[in-house]
Amino acid sequence: MSDSQILPSTLYIVATPIGNLGDLSQRARDILEQVDVIACEDTRHTQRLLSAFAIKNKTMSMHDHNERQRQEQIAALLKEGKSVALVSDAGTPLISDPGFHLVRHCRQQGLSVSPIPGACAAIAALSVAGLPTDRFTFEGFLPSKTGARQSTLNELANETRTMVFYDAPRRAIDTVEDIVKTLGGERYVVMARELTKTFETIHSDTAANLLTFLQGDPNQLKGEMVLIIEGAKVDPNDIPAHVVATLKLLLSEMKPKKACAIAAEIHGVKKNALYEYALAMKE
Ligand code: SAM
Repeated sequence: MSDSQILPSTLYIVATPIGNLGDLSQRARDILEQVDVIACEDTRHTQRLLSAFAIKNKTMSMHDHNERQRQEQIAALLKEGKSVALVSDAGTPLISDPGFHLVRHCRQQGLSVSPIPGACAAIAALSVAGLPTDRFTFEGFLPSKTGARQSTLNELANETRTMVFYDAPRRAIDTVEDIVKTLGGERYVVMARELTKTFETIHSDTAANLLTFLQGDPNQLKGEMVLIIEGAKVDPNDIPAHVVATLKLLLSEMKPKKACAIAAEIHGVKKNALYEYALAMKE
């Protein structure tokens, strides 16, 4: 039984499948059927999804180039009591997809915005990567030009959290080459390609080995992919003894997150590094 009573004056942010149509939730289907209009990144693309589920409803385009103009129109519809759904071509809108300006505009106007959660390539990839998920950072797309890509990766060299990137497989060899150059060939990388689709491939190895794997199989350079890079390892020798002493004392009294935040504040050091150290100590 479906429990998707639609509310008036509400903007629904609806996640759609990233490949397998079976991942469209019943609630998403109900909302897409019942709203007054569906704002789509690409109306033709969304029409195919709607047809697959025999959903007949009005659509309007809302993409990067007309979002500012559309936000006024959509806010006006919501104020009239209409309900609107926002979808992107695949996955969760706003996640490397249009919608941020619209949602911010609606929220600033006190209009109600409600999520209809579902597929997101970044989260799907992270859930199978086998890398720490307690803390991670989503970096979106890396720059397409080598120089800019290398400098972004260089800036992330000391990031201790797991890092999630979207990338185009045709660029994958260049990207992984740059990972080897900037973060080292030993850094562990997971490639999650064509998730939920026929040729789904999840391959994890050191950056150097992943590069060899990609160079040896042109099929891996097709479709869509998420790259996940393990965070930088903290070398305990890099943390001064007096900081470790404070941390140990605080850890005996409180939870690691709080202990690390206080120790970092006292000594003016990075909280992330202390947290990694605290976790390693616990293990
Ligand atoms: N909003 C989407 C989401 O929630 O995942 C992402 C949109 S972004 C424009 C598209 C990128 O997401 C692709 O270039 C790829 O990096 C990733 N992606 C989308 N579908 C994927 C899939 N089935 N397998 C692997 N990566 C995918």
